[in-house]
Amino acid sequence: MVVVLDTLAKKPRHPEKAHRPDMPSGRKPDWIRVRAPGPGAFAETTKIVREHGLNTVCVEASCPNIGECWAVRHATFMILGDTCTRACAFCNVKTGLPEALDPHEPVHVAEATARLGLKHVVVTSVDRDDLDDGGADHFVQTIRAIREKSPGTTVEVLTPDFLRKDGALEQVVAAKPDVFNHNLETVPSLYLPVRPGARYFHSVRLLQRVKEIDPSIFTKSGIMVGLGETRNEIFQVMDDLRSAGVDFITIGQYLQPTLKHHPVIRYVEPSEFESLKSVAYAKGFLMVSSSPLTRSSHHAGEDFERLRAARTAQLERM
Ligand code: SF4
Repeated sequence: MVVVLDTLAKKPRHPEKAHRPDMPSGRKPDWIRVRAPGPGAFAETTKIVREHGLNTVCVEASCPNIGECWAVRHATFMILGDTCTRACAFCNVKTGLPEALDPHEPVHVAEATARLGLKHVVVTSVDRDDLDDGGADHFVQTIRAIREKSPGTTVEVLTPDFLRKDGALEQVVAAKPDVFNHNLETVPSLYLPVRPGARYFHSVRLLQRVKEIDPSIFTKSGIMVGLGETRNEIFQVMDDLRSAGVDFITIGQYLQPTLKHHPVIRYVEPSEFESLKSVAYAKGFLMVSSSPLTRSSHHAGEDFERLRAARTAQLERM
């Protein structure tokens, strides 16, 4: 599962981390059980993704849920290429200088969405600090292509932070995705070691702006736990997200992709995830997903239905 080398190019996937000492994380507890790919549609999902020449975060981030998700044809597309201009300490996506954008990628994503028969599709991307608009127009083209090919499919975008890309966020919001997701990833005190290229308050503000511009769009954000944060810091993040009007929070266990990545400081027990879920609901989130293997896009389709139902129920109570 762990990818240390880019096997085609035979070079490190994360050149900026190559000099770091190994940082072992210790044995995974029993509750982190990764399911092997089942017989279902796994092979067909793989074929469709490959035939359209697409990247997925499922593969690139070594997601532990790939066996489960791909067996039910649920893949999360990663657009704007396979190379990220940031160098986050938790992430397995390849880093370096990206290639030029593929202008056909939006249509290929739409075709693959239709072939997989997705009722709800999640589209994420690498960071593209090298592009003037951070890749916003490519997100817009992808949303439009999906809508044209599959008008009944709901669209969730999981975007980068568009730091120093004026107007980029507004462009994506104007394309009216059903869900706008941007992950905070961790607590503010860990941004420097974990997410050095990002700014915590910029990310919170980005989510707040989405609601200001278009309150009909659901907003969503996620954090990983086990990176060294305290419980009170997690509560602070929840409060910050609620202040920004965020509807849905996801909380999952951080897993170390390679020995050169940030180590797991602690494996959080399932009961603690349940407790965080209760606190998050008490703080007013419409939806909370909190478990060791929770990931942003895990069960995204079912969660979207529940999110919609929760909003309807809330409006009826008002
Ligand atoms: S949880 Fe998301 S990233 Fe992981 S395999 Fe499922 S769809 Fe892909």
